[in-house]
Amino acid sequence: MTTFYHSTRSAGDSVTSKQAILAGIAPDGGLYVSDALGEKGVSLETVCAQGFHDTARLVLGTLLPDYAAEELASCVEGAYGSQWDTPAVCPVTPLGTDWLLELYHGPTCAFKDVALQMLPRLMSVARGGDGRKIMIVTATSGDTGKAALDGFANVAGTGVAVFYPHGKVSDIQRLQMVTQPGDNVAVCAVRGTFDDCQGEVKRIFSDEALAERLAGNGVALSSANSINVGRLAPQVTYYFDAYAQLVCRDAVRMGEEVTFCVPTGNFGDVLAGYFAKRLGLPVRRLVVASNANDVLTDFLTTGTYDRRRDFHKTISPSMDILVSSNLERLLYYASDGDCELVSSLMAQLAEKGFYTVPEAVLDEIRSTFSCGRADDAQTRRTILDTWRELDVLIDPHTAVAKHVLDALPADGTERVCLSTASPYKFCSDVLGALGEATDGMNGFACMDALERLTGTVAPAQLSGLREGEVLHDDVCDRERMGAFVESACARVFL
Ligand SMILES: *Cc1c(COP(=O)(O)O)cnc(C)c1O
Repeated sequence: MTTFYHSTRSAGDSVTSKQAILAGIAPDGGLYVSDALGEKGVSLETVCAQGFHDTARLVLGTLLPDYAAEELASCVEGAYGSQWDTPAVCPVTPLGTDWLLELYHGPTCAFKDVALQMLPRLMSVARGGDGRKIMIVTATSGDTGKAALDGFANVAGTGVAVFYPHGKVSDIQRLQMVTQPGDNVAVCAVRGTFDDCQGEVKRIFSDEALAERLAGNGVALSSANSINVGRLAPQVTYYFDAYAQLVCRDAVRMGEEVTFCVPTGNFGDVLAGYFAKRLGLPVRRLVVASNANDVLTDFLTTGTYDRRRDFHKTISPSMDILVSSNLERLLYYASDGDCELVSSLMAQLAEKGFYTVPEAVLDEIRSTFSCGRADDAQTRRTILDTWRELDVLIDPHTAVAKHVLDALPADGTERVCLSTASPYKFCSDVLGALGEATDGMNGFACMDALERLTGTVAPAQLSGLREGEVLHDDVCDRERMGAFVESACARVFL
């Protein structure tokens, strides 16, 4: 059976999951969805009797059925191997009376590794032997860039170029990127802001003259954005695997419902939880946790999505987002596949900056999703309390979710808080939350101080950066980014 994907905005043109993964976004600007989602479920009994890797094969095989079983097996083996610092890949650990799903044991210490270790392999298989070469171009405010670099490094037929704003990422995040080895990687700091980088990357994607020159050499540009089906599908795995771990620990009986609380930005992570539910996972509630950029909390409360608001820079920067792209997929499913509705809502968002969903759609969404928010002060307080009372050190993104979870009335279910980054990735803010001064301290000084204060150990993926050789020292103006991409293509592919 082949599951076909089509745009959230039109059901006309269907593509296979391989084509959807290579294309990233549909030609009409919509996101790829499959109407078969949930027709074929994932067996709980099977999931509870096996580990992460087998479940990854099962989940991916269900969502991406045009991949052969052997193809997926080798992707899973490569993506979730020794680059993870625990064989469990995404272990569940106690968090007081709740549970913590630790998604940060990958090579870059953020949950994006779960998807970005897999996506390059899925792309590589999808392009098959046709000789097409793909250059991934990404702008990053910190986390995504390194996860994309690590995922695509040395993957045959692909290259990756990452731009970050000069002087505006943390010490550790910068070192993670500039020490990245690999023959097919390119990293450049840009004099400007993250928005400048992002804006110019969008322009590069729409530069037809550049596309033509690259096509002449068999090269196409693509993005590793979280709207890609190949990033979404791998994230479904850990919802099932977490459930299996709870069953193994006798914390839940098979079939009993569980609640997940998810720190949310672009709505990819929590949407994967919704996919898991559609595939048969017993989920009571999915809780959307926002920081001060609480556009989703307002939407889930009122039914109006309104991006016309101030942007807040917070200590959970990976959630500083005003347009949560993946929400479009939920609107599609919650409206029972109403492409016309989705299309008109997205047009309203683009033109006026807001839209309101019909009541029936909001009711459907609210039958599964709850929400809450935490500002920076609440986030810091939660980091402190969680350390003092539970002996668990959490990062600011995770703390947003923990705060929201704590504020919810208990519903009798076991509750899982998704932990999306290692606290050592955000040493300075975590130290500050624990009451320590960090003035004038660089990333490594903060790392040492956090180890001393808590008696915990920084992940080797981060402490090892001390010995890392700086391999990328390019700095350019925004106007030069296109030329940088073109020369990177020439260097990598020709
Ligand atoms: C990207 C990111 C998030 C938000 O994930 P979405 O899928 O965009 O909702 C949360 N926490 C961390 C640490 C991240 O890097």
